[in-house]
Amino acid sequence: MDDAAAARGEKLSSGNVNHLIDSVDCFLFDCDGVIWKGDTLIDGSKEALDMLRSKGKKLVFVTNNSRRSRSQYAKKFLSLGIPVTQDEIFSSSFAAAMYLKLIDFPPAKKVYVIGEEGILEELKLAGFTGIGGPEDGKKTAEFKANSLFEHDKSVGAVVVGLDQYINYYKLQYGTLCIRENPGCLFIATNRDAVGHMTDLQEWPGAGCMVAAICGATEKEPVVVGKPATFMMDFLLEKFKISTSRMCMVGDRLDTDILFGQNAGCKTLLVFSGVTTPSAFHDPSNHTHPDYYTDKLFDIVSLM
Ligand SMILES: [Mg+2]
Repeated sequence: MDDAAAARGEKLSSGNVNHLIDSVDCFLFDCDGVIWKGDTLIDGSKEALDMLRSKGKKLVFVTNNSRRSRSQYAKKFLSLGIPVTQDEIFSSSFAAAMYLKLIDFPPAKKVYVIGEEGILEELKLAGFTGIGGPEDGKKTAEFKANSLFEHDKSVGAVVVGLDQYINYYKLQYGTLCIRENPGCLFIATNRDAVGHMTDLQEWPGAGCMVAAICGATEKEPVVVGKPATFMMDFLLEKFKISTSRMCMVGDRLDTDILFGQNAGCKTLLVFSGVTTPSAFHDPSNHTHPDYYTDKLFDIVSLM
């Protein structure tokens, strides 16, 4: 292979798969598009995880999808027949709560959530008061003369993640907090454009909700999910493995592969999710993983 081809990544093959496995102690996995699509397991992903566990590899799941908390993700894994503990899961919902902890966000202040149950649960576990979320999904905003849209002045942060119940009420609430509460933080769980919320289709991702608040506030958020390496700091503290002995496996170039590269990990791109082979090989793509392959199970079938 010439240098230009090598720089674009190697196709996973029977000639390099054993080297990859031997050179890695900890595999980090994105979930949507790698392990499952929506609530449907991708063929062979369970077998691939079983094989890596049997070889003594540490497995960690790093997901930008903030709809669930870590314990809710652990339950989802179990329901799909994959034993995973909460400690092995790093979700962007958890990252948002950990970010607030890290900056000593005052627990007396509230957090307004444009997002789902996972963010509220992680905030609560971290000792913070989250408001909004699913409950505000049923509320409506009306344009009425001489009537003020009230918002809580004690909100000190707005966390925005994937929200299938996004509405104009929440947009106004979050916007008012950021624009009018002095020092109010704007935190995004992630900015994924789209994701496989169901097995057959892609849907607008958290990037869509975040863009709405950016548009209204003319502010940019702090992003805690991939490709930001914020979650990696927690992961390193917990597992004490050098990032050079880690491999990030994902289906998105702009989040998963970039996250792995930003953190100094090896990277493996799979085509079972968002990225198509033609988009990857297109000259306009400048993000290149160390390895690429069709699906996770290839690491078993190529061995
Ligand atoms: Mg994905």
